[in-house]
Amino acid sequence: MANITNEFMGHDMLAPFTAGWQSDMEPLVIEKSEGSYVYDINGKKYLDTLSGLWCTTLGGSETRLVEAANKQLNTLPFYHSFWNRTTKPSLDLAKELLNMFTANKMAKVFFTNSGSEANDTQVKLVWYYNNALGRPQKKKIIARAKAYHGSTYISAGLSGLPPMHQKFDLPPPFVLHTECPHYWAYHLPGETEEEFSTRLANNLESLILKEGPETVAAFIAEPVLGAAGVILPPATYFDKVQAILRKHDILFIADEVVCGFGRLGTMFGSDKYNIKPDLVSVAKALSSGYMPIAAVLVSQKISSVILSESNKIGAFCHGFTYSGHPVACAVALEALKIYKERNITEVVNKISQKFQEGLKAFADSPIIGEIRGTGLALSTEFVDNKSPNDPFPYEWAVGTYFGTQCAKYGMLVSSTGDHVNMAPSFTLSLEELDELIRIYGKALKDTEKRVEE
Ligand code: PLP
Repeated sequence: MANITNEFMGHDMLAPFTAGWQSDMEPLVIEKSEGSYVYDINGKKYLDTLSGLWCTTLGGSETRLVEAANKQLNTLPFYHSFWNRTTKPSLDLAKELLNMFTANKMAKVFFTNSGSEANDTQVKLVWYYNNALGRPQKKKIIARAKAYHGSTYISAGLSGLPPMHQKFDLPPPFVLHTECPHYWAYHLPGETEEEFSTRLANNLESLILKEGPETVAAFIAEPVLGAAGVILPPATYFDKVQAILRKHDILFIADEVVCGFGRLGTMFGSDKYNIKPDLVSVAKALSSGYMPIAAVLVSQKISSVILSESNKIGAFCHGFTYSGHPVACAVALEALKIYKERNITEVVNKISQKFQEGLKAFADSPIIGEIRGTGLALSTEFVDNKSPNDPFPYEWAVGTYFGTQCAKYGMLVSSTGDHVNMAPSFTLSLEELDELIRIYGKALKDTEKRVEE
């Protein structure tokens, strides 16, 4: 086996821990985008297979979004949404979001600037709701191991990734984690997907009973775990989980930050897995990543309690200067219009079969444990002996080496440890997909060779 050392540890290895941190490492500086491609400052062209950071669903040069931003900048570049004031783009976007999300009836929208802020807002809404109902002890939030929900204090606590907790005194005491529903990695010998789901749901219920259902407020989940490596829910998982939550009067927060707006071939992940959430977080593709904006969708059940309480004792005291920023809202509104006009789920479904089949054809590689995905989201997990129990030594940085080879051939992937995520823009053409598959194959061959040496 090759000793793949630091030599191959590009900055993508550290990216989850250094985002925005301008270190001494030589960064890859991206200057320009065009459709499914980005260019660095030296003019090198890369097929961007993660649409930025799961954001630019409409590609990197959608002029309608630019025009929407310009038009709004020229009309009203800023106004806030405090003290019952707001702007037309913010109102229109809220209405459009409520129309679009049909998995459960949503009544109110709260805008934030990021997915992390959206998930922090969720926890405060849930607490406010339970306080209003006279049960302030119903406060704990259950999240899942390996989940990613953001980087602020609460959302990093909800995330189920140990490096996000260590040295930060996280998770906070009110956050509990239940198991990650990754069938390939964690099922017992002979256990079917349904049996695995039953076991996880039973374990979730045991955790709730141990803590006391009267202390557990909400469960938060991504329909498909994105950053963790496109982990799909096993058959019947969400049906069983939701039955338990209902039984114990525990709210369901759907984190649709990655899954929302067509990524999985349905408008929302909740549609695909029959999830009926009480609260929903959206971000990223909401504006196709062109402006920082996120939102929390709140069901009637929650909003009516919160509103009646806030009328009594003053407003739900929470908000950001840029909540509902008119330029961000105008861009997001245009993005949603485009999704509708172009029938975006059909666009995804047309290309996703070839995307999934073309890449899953590499599953026989001796260094790949699993290639999994749905819609335009896919992850490759590199392991030894094709076993989830045999990870390659960390210092070999196999996933990073694969990513480095892809970049050499003109393609950017996201390699975090030994899983490599891909979630291209919906602008991906069949020719670009051929190129993606070809470069993936070349980089895989190089990586196999490197591991064998
Ligand atoms: N939730 C999920 C599922 C995410 O993937 C992310 C970011 O990747 C977040 C929340 C946090 O969003 P942001 O980075 O906009 O704060």
